[in-house]
Amino acid sequence: MTAACELCQDTGGEELYRDHQLRVVLVDDAQYPGFCRVIWHAHVKEMTDLLPASRSAMMQMVMKVESALRETLNPDKINLASLGNMTPHLQWHVIPRFRDDAHFPAPVWAAAQRQPDAGALAARASHLAALRAALARATSED
Ligand SMILES: [Zn+2]
Repeated sequence: MTAACELCQDTGGEELYRDHQLRVVLVDDAQYPGFCRVIWHAHVKEMTDLLPASRSAMMQMVMKVESALRETLNPDKINLASLGNMTPHLQWHVIPRFRDDAHFPAPVWAAAQRQPDAGALAARASHLAALRAALARATSED
């Protein structure tokens, strides 16, 4: 634990899953309902700093989140990004993308290209309960 570290002090979003190594959180982003992050609890910089079994655990969880997002939100694309540029926590961003989202086809961190339709965003947000349930099912199967 590092007192100054935001992700040691706070979950980083609505926690959907947690085990002894990692957690999955739903990011509170009105533009991107369903945006999830898989966060390694310990301070680890890169995937290659993890032992192979831990790398595998991390990626298996990323795949479970991706599958749950595809099943419930039916996005046009999933974007995966390993970040942790601002904090010392290895974290995968799992982002459901839609052709009419704010940045498509650019990355979500690029300049916005449009204001997404409020109705489309509300429709996506209406699937979040199903997303929570799908991920709960996927993570209880092990
Ligand atoms: Zn930390």
